Amino acid sequence: MTDNSHPLQQRLNTVIGRIDAAIARFSREPDSVTLLAVSKTRSADELRTIAAEGITRFGENYLQEALDKMAELADLSLEWHFIGPIQSNKTRSIAEHFNWVHSVDRWKIARRLSDQRPDGLPPLNVCLQVNIDREPQKAGVAPEQAAELARQCVELSGIRLRGLMCIPLPPSEDHDPASSYERMLTLFTELKSAGLNLDTLSMGMSADLESAIMHGSTMVRVGTDLFGPRPE
Ligand SMILES: *Cc1c(COP(=O)(O)O)cnc(C)c1O
Repeated sequence: MTDNSHPLQQRLNTVIGRIDAAIARFSREPDSVTLLAVSKTRSADELRTIAAEGITRFGENYLQEALDKMAELADLSLEWHFIGPIQSNKTRSIAEHFNWVHSVDRWKIARRLSDQRPDGLPPLNVCLQVNIDREPQKAGVAPEQAAELARQCVELSGIRLRGLMCIPLPPSEDHDPASSYERMLTLFTELKSAGLNLDTLSMGMSADLESAIMHGSTMVRVGTDLFGPRPE
């Protein structure tokens, strides 16, 4: 008998319930929102437990940590998404080992990932990270430069541009992340109207996945509410 009381199982059920409720409430298509389990700092055993529940997509921020888990979980058929900042000396390993990258924010990185994608693999799925709130210290292409970078990316044969990603300013008295998500949806819609073939809007985390789904998210990236609070 399976042990239905495992906390990871309970948290997973809660998160899936929240996604399904938001899909219904905001009249989104069934199955139009994918859950990406953000597994930074989590052990391979924790990933294995949640993979046994049918979760196959994992988001990782740190390259070496991800490579170690990939090796430990090589017997499973998993989809690996790189969601952290990218240094150019890491692009080869990312291009070799990941299925997706959500954090491409400049031409140099896009070109290197494309050039370094091994021939035998399908093109690397890519989202452009947009600095939607124009935060000085934050990664991401400026919103008004996203269209040009997107057009450059579609010319690269080693990557396949899938869409946009953002990490909004956290909520505060002065800022409601819903406004960031709304601007992301507008940008995404504009790029598609301009002829770019995009299907992925990667936004929404534990605290605000409902708001992101309301504004068209197709992939929510959930860490804390799946695995519990991260150790410092
Ligand atoms: C850590 C992280 C998440 C998950 O955030 P939670 O609040 O733990 O759900 C999502 N996206 C990115 C890029 C992250 O680094």
